[in-house]
Amino acid sequence: MSVEFTKIFGNSHLKALFSNAVSDNKLPHAIILEGASGSGRYTFALNIAAAALCNGMAKPCYGCKNCRLIFEGVCPDVSLTGLAEGKATIPVDAVREIRNDAQKVPVEGELKFYIIRDADKMTVQAQNALLKILEEPPSFVVFILISENSNLLLSTIRSRASTFRMQRFDDSELAEYVVSYNPKAQALKSSDEASFNRIIKAANGCIGSVLDNLDKRSLKCITDEYTMVTEMLTALCGSSKSDFMAFEDELPSKREELRDSLITLRSAVRDILALKRGSSAEILFFENADDIKRISKTMTLSSVVEIIDRIESTLNANEQNANVNLLKINFMNSLWKCVH
Ligand SMILES: [Zn+2]
Repeated sequence: MSVEFTKIFGNSHLKALFSNAVSDNKLPHAIILEGASGSGRYTFALNIAAAALCNGMAKPCYGCKNCRLIFEGVCPDVSLTGLAEGKATIPVDAVREIRNDAQKVPVEGELKFYIIRDADKMTVQAQNALLKILEEPPSFVVFILISENSNLLLSTIRSRASTFRMQRFDDSELAEYVVSYNPKAQALKSSDEASFNRIIKAANGCIGSVLDNLDKRSLKCITDEYTMVTEMLTALCGSSKSDFMAFEDELPSKREELRDSLITLRSAVRDILALKRGSSAEILFFENADDIKRISKTMTLSSVVEIIDRIESTLNANEQNANVNLLKINFMNSLWKCVH
């Protein structure tokens, strides 16, 4: 028998660690998988559970009954918890349920798993309830806490768990990987390489985001957004306020869509900030540094910082149900004032 995570891309360090831990029956009772959204944390959590419960030879085999049940999300020994739809926190009741259930022996194998997504969204009360069981976990239980930032968890939880960070890929690794197995990515790369590169860049090192964008968002939408943001910033540095204000119509009037556009705009302005500061940070939005220089010629460092402030406060106001049309006008006016 061997443990090989054949369907996990990259992360060779984590794969080696967990391969040994599963083979030696030495999985920690509490695991924190940390990484950005789309970095494959959840998939990796399922793979750890599958490797431990698989009945095949090369584990996880993805074909035996346990593997199939796990990846279908219906294995009785692998419980999944996370934010309920529309909720901002995971309540203590959800953790109490886990705590009661965790006392019962596994149905199929030697171990049972509790995977908690957005674990840092557990209320303090919920985390304290979890802590009680982490202090004396039943020998057959493994908790996998998925978090974007484990520092948001109570230090008492962190001290009882082993934290592992998912790998962040650079653009060339991501590109190579998606092209190697995703037909849509292959087709796009050969027909329209600029758009393909834009999707890779927009993913910010996360494989899940690339796949999402290939599947869900139309390419036209990504390309239009890129053009809109670069033209809007160019107009912001120009001399005609009315030309710039015309971009108000380009900003979406639906709250959710406005948020997405503002976030895109923010990543573009962060690139400008990094360049002005002479930082060696990776460019996240623009295709190259020359584009940034051309667009931001007339912006000073302090005006760029102010623009980011305006974007942040507008994002907040948008979350708090401010009138969207009014918000857009105020936002555009305040951006103009930052630069002129
Ligand atoms: Zn299997």
